[in-house]
Amino acid sequence: MRVRFAPSPTGQLHVGNARTALFNWLLARGSGGVFILRIEDTNAERSTRESEVAIERDLRWLGLDWDEGPDIGGPRGPYRQSERLHLYQSYATELLNTDAAYYCFCSAADLEAAREAAVASGRPARYGGACRRLSREQAQARIAAGERPAIRFRVPAVGDVVFTDVVRGDVRFPIDVIGDPIIVRADGHPAYNFAVVVDDALMEVTHVVRGEDHISNTPRQVLLYEALGFSPPMFAHLALVMGPDHGPLSKRHGATSVAEFRSKGYLPESLVNYLALIGWSPRGPGRSRSVEDDAELWPIDELAKRFALDDVSHSAGVFDEEKLAWVNRHYLKIADPTRIAELSVPHFGAAGVRMAPDGRGLAFLAGALPMATSSVDRIDQIPTRLAFLFDADTTHALLDPGVRSEMNDEGARAVVVALAEELTTAPRLDRQGFRAVANQVKARTGRKGKALFHPIRVALTGRREGPELDLAVPAIDAGADLPGEAGIPKILGCRERAALFARALEQPW
Ligand code: GLU
Repeated sequence: MRVRFAPSPTGQLHVGNARTALFNWLLARGSGGVFILRIEDTNAERSTRESEVAIERDLRWLGLDWDEGPDIGGPRGPYRQSERLHLYQSYATELLNTDAAYYCFCSAADLEAAREAAVASGRPARYGGACRRLSREQAQARIAAGERPAIRFRVPAVGDVVFTDVVRGDVRFPIDVIGDPIIVRADGHPAYNFAVVVDDALMEVTHVVRGEDHISNTPRQVLLYEALGFSPPMFAHLALVMGPDHGPLSKRHGATSVAEFRSKGYLPESLVNYLALIGWSPRGPGRSRSVEDDAELWPIDELAKRFALDDVSHSAGVFDEEKLAWVNRHYLKIADPTRIAELSVPHFGAAGVRMAPDGRGLAFLAGALPMATSSVDRIDQIPTRLAFLFDADTTHALLDPGVRSEMNDEGARAVVVALAEELTTAPRLDRQGFRAVANQVKARTGRKGKALFHPIRVALTGRREGPELDLAVPAIDAGADLPGEAGIPKILGCRERAALFARALEQPW
């Protein structure tokens, strides 16, 4: 099996296209086949190298590696259409020689006028065939006189085009609705339908798996395969990825590109797993449903083992970011904390906590992460959950009306004072150390439960809410002991925090 993903480098990789790439990759990897990346950059105005680079980076980020492609080459290259113009030219010449194609001199203005006239009189707006009957001599004479013609494919006169689509079954198109398509434009660039056929044939692609938006192109492609003497591949057209309102997923639904989801703090394994489940369900007819299937969360290699085109649905799949977030929560919890720590660094930066952690710094962050990953959907939400580590501004805390009313209570203030005193002599706190100090404060103030722990939380974190103190307190004190080279912004220890807060309470506030 040889499959390909053939993006046009005209922008960011859309998640719908990423799913197409993924399904091709899963097929190749699940069957020991070859996955080809082909860049369809024949639209010189819209294609950019930046977009190609971005698409390749996003595919790699998702874990979709290719066996043949523009960067690594391969036996059927080149893999960039702009480098294959000679091939399209030579196959077009072959079609001209057998009269399966002809030169067309119609200008854009002629074509537009003919189209308008056809529409006005209720005729189909396909090419009227003005140049169809030009003799070869007439055409050569006009070329010799300096005209630059396009080349059109001569669509055979009778019959229907029929092809079998793995997802949609037999598809039949009446041939007479198909006007003669341009295969090579006047500027020498091939039209999509022509380039794709030449490339898929020469690259020996066995299965063309792509979006349903190309189904109406397929009859022209099938005719071109026949005219060129190639046998068509198997086709599988995937239903499009829709937004929650069942319209095609677009900007108005929010993020649509892989790059946007990455920068929002989704993990690649989450996006891959979620995209795999849009329009594909591993429980096709005849498959048994196991408990494991219910979870529907598998690593990419496992997805590849299970993937089968037969189980791909022909109805549109909805992209629901809530569900993606659910998948991401799962992967955040099971991911290696050091990896998540590394990934969270730019998000801390964006939140104003700039850091360049070394191994120790990362180990510290990784140790603090469970406090965040138990309750966030995305990596970009981690800095807010851990902000208490980095800002210990008690003056600021005392501006909070909730904190103020809590501190209006004399008993609460007594807890803060006792805490500050206990901590003057205590070593940095681990979980046991914190329990011991809390017990001392309890004994000294006679307060317990919320009345004890609320003021402690406010004094040590500057906040009325947050992660369990059993986790937060040891994290603060682990941070306080980090040397500057660890690359983590200065973290004030519990001792210092309690002293500052107790002092602030002594001033007017
Ligand atoms: N370049 C086309 C696209 O991005 C590829 C279509 C195909 O797979 O044939 O839509």
